[in-house]
Amino acid sequence: MRLLAAALAILPLCAQSPGQKLAREIFQQLIEINTTDSSGDNTRAAEAMAARFRAAGFPEGDVHVLGPVARKGNLVVRLHGAGAARPILFLGHLDVVEALRADWSFDPFVFREQDGYFYGRGTSDMKGDDATLAAAFLRMKRENFQPSRDLILALTSDEEGGNSNGAGWLVTEHRDLIDAQFCVNADGGGGHIKNGKHLFMAMQAAEKVFLSFKLEVTNSGGHSSLPTRDNAIYHLADGLSRLGKFDFPVHLFDVTRAAFERGANIYGGQLGADLKALVQNPGDAAAVARLSAIPLYNAQMRTTCVATMLSGGHAQNALPQLATAVVNCRLLPVDKPADIKRTLEQVLADPKITVTEMNQPVTTPYTPIDPKVMAAVTASTNKFWPGLPVVPAMETGATDGTVMIRAGIPTYGVSGMFGDEDDVRAHGRDERILVKSFDEAVDFMYDLIKRLAM
Ligand SMILES: [Zn+2]
Repeated sequence: MRLLAAALAILPLCAQSPGQKLAREIFQQLIEINTTDSSGDNTRAAEAMAARFRAAGFPEGDVHVLGPVARKGNLVVRLHGAGAARPILFLGHLDVVEALRADWSFDPFVFREQDGYFYGRGTSDMKGDDATLAAAFLRMKRENFQPSRDLILALTSDEEGGNSNGAGWLVTEHRDLIDAQFCVNADGGGGHIKNGKHLFMAMQAAEKVFLSFKLEVTNSGGHSSLPTRDNAIYHLADGLSRLGKFDFPVHLFDVTRAAFERGANIYGGQLGADLKALVQNPGDAAAVARLSAIPLYNAQMRTTCVATMLSGGHAQNALPQLATAVVNCRLLPVDKPADIKRTLEQVLADPKITVTEMNQPVTTPYTPIDPKVMAAVTASTNKFWPGLPVVPAMETGATDGTVMIRAGIPTYGVSGMFGDEDDVRAHGRDERILVKSFDEAVDFMYDLIKRLAM
């Protein structure tokens, strides 16, 4: 019995399901089509996927490759459902960050399996996820699965850069093709591994909002041999040093509160204790002080505003007539831009410093996590990794999810791919993903999509 059990236990490691085999083929095909902004061709990748969907029996009218310019094609595929609710959009980007052969140990555009990893540009960001999505849609079609509502797959261009952001273009030019009740963005979320152990599954449920301010002080100037106390550079510098010592108030909301709550159990130790204390009492000064010293947690607890650029003066021997700085803020989605500006002016505490917005912030109201989406992600996670916690997460940077949220489509970052917290190679050299993680992600995504579409 023991021997048999042992032999059976080995089987799943070697055996590849038909879904996994197809996903690997798609993965290889995508990696080997260069989709960088400089020399790649997103349309080729989109067309390669479109050919697979047509061959699988998707009608011509449900498979679209379209874009604003030649090399920036986006793929949109629709699997028709029973119309019980508005569609669900599944989103991924096909483009990848530049990769130079000279920087890598091997050709970044040749799919390579070695020592339990798949290597190549885009393996982790995010052609592996694209392959899991495409394979799931093909498999549902093959199995004649009838979803309760339409399911839409959009694989887009220029998320990483370039002038033809596909998600934005689709929203403005072809809203009808991608309009959905909510969006699952496979570029966000995903599993965390640390020291070889699965830690938790993150579900991205919120993003911070980008807002920069220009600070400006003008002065009549004069000869530097006759200085006065009223100096544009001093006004600005004094204001900035007050800002440097200031922290915006701690403001937890459902996403960060849940993240801290679950993080407390996952991490343990002082960090775990502080996360727990903060949830119980956001005014716990000692916990706030310790967490504020960790940039990752500081950025989760509050809106941040930091000086990023500085200039002033026009000659060595002249009193400055102008001093300017850029302050970049990352707002919690529950904080209001006008309030942050007012606080900033109060902290700078100098009427000579004028504060002007440099960009239009995304002001879409924050929508709480949809419990049905959370339940589906939790159920699929528990099916493949029993007992693993699902942690809602707020991204401090930005993905194409921002584009969808701005368009009024609530967006959740979900990926079945697990990556090592200490081995993040997205955008870097020798990018890779664990073979085992990829195979598991294929089954996870298929399971999740069906669960959401029941
Ligand atoms: Zn990405």
